[in-house]
Amino acid sequence: MVNYKTKEEIEIMRHSCLLVSQAHAALAKELKPGMTTFKINEMVETFIMDNGGAPSFKNYGGFKYATCISMNNAVVHGFPSNHELNDGDIISLDIGIFKNGFHGDSAYTYAIGEISAEVKKLLKVTKESLYAGIAKARQGNRIGDIANAIQEYTEKQNGYGVVRELVGHGLGRKLHEDPQVPNYGKKGSGAKLKAGMVLAIEPMINMGVKEVLHLDDGWTVLTKDGKPSAHFEHDVHITKGEPDILTSFVEIEAAERANNNLSWSHGD
Ligand code: MG
Ligand code: MG
Repeated sequence: MVNYKTKEEIEIMRHSCLLVSQAHAALAKELKPGMTTFKINEMVETFIMDNGGAPSFKNYGGFKYATCISMNNAVVHGFPSNHELNDGDIISLDIGIFKNGFHGDSAYTYAIGEISAEVKKLLKVTKESLYAGIAKARQGNRIGDIANAIQEYTEKQNGYGVVRELVGHGLGRKLHEDPQVPNYGKKGSGAKLKAGMVLAIEPMINMGVKEVLHLDDGWTVLTKDGKPSAHFEHDVHITKGEPDILTSFVEIEAAERANNNLSWSHGD
């Protein structure tokens, strides 16, 4: 069942979603080689608590941490650890915040130090595919139109692998609501999009094959071929007109550009 949001609920959600973006931006200013992923998790959790929110992922289905931190060949759902970031790593950070009864949920892949041109391209294409999907997120279209736009750009045009086992989702009072939002599919298929829906659209794109492995920690998802994977996620409110993106990458990108310890993940 899809939970359509009222205008008032959308404004409450916008606050939760922007807080997630601000948590990312605060962290993007600080990321550097030598930092442990435990430290990253701690910084984000402190930011969330200081801003009156609760980490959506902590205790979700038994997950123990405030953030999912997935490095290099890890696709999603990685645990923070005492592993230190190295020059050349990519790190996909997924943050969820519950505040005033609603969740915000956004992921971003950061490039630590200098990364290879081919990994840079993976980040650029994955981020662009998110916007290609969002461009189809309007009343009258269907879920399959979003899914197809993402698959077309990443898999067909760039030869990457679209993870099948993991999908985007509706978002609201619950972290995962209907409908599911896959990153692959046929144009014109699936549920019809209607004003008041909020969708977390989140391409998870592998440089190599689409297949993944599940670590026996019960959570971490890795690429089957060991090649890197990228993840970008926005929360999008469907309207009768233009898609209304509730999260924002503007401050994150500004912080990323200003931080000499990061490569600009948008490819230039
Ligand atoms: Mg997420
Ligand atoms: Mg999500």
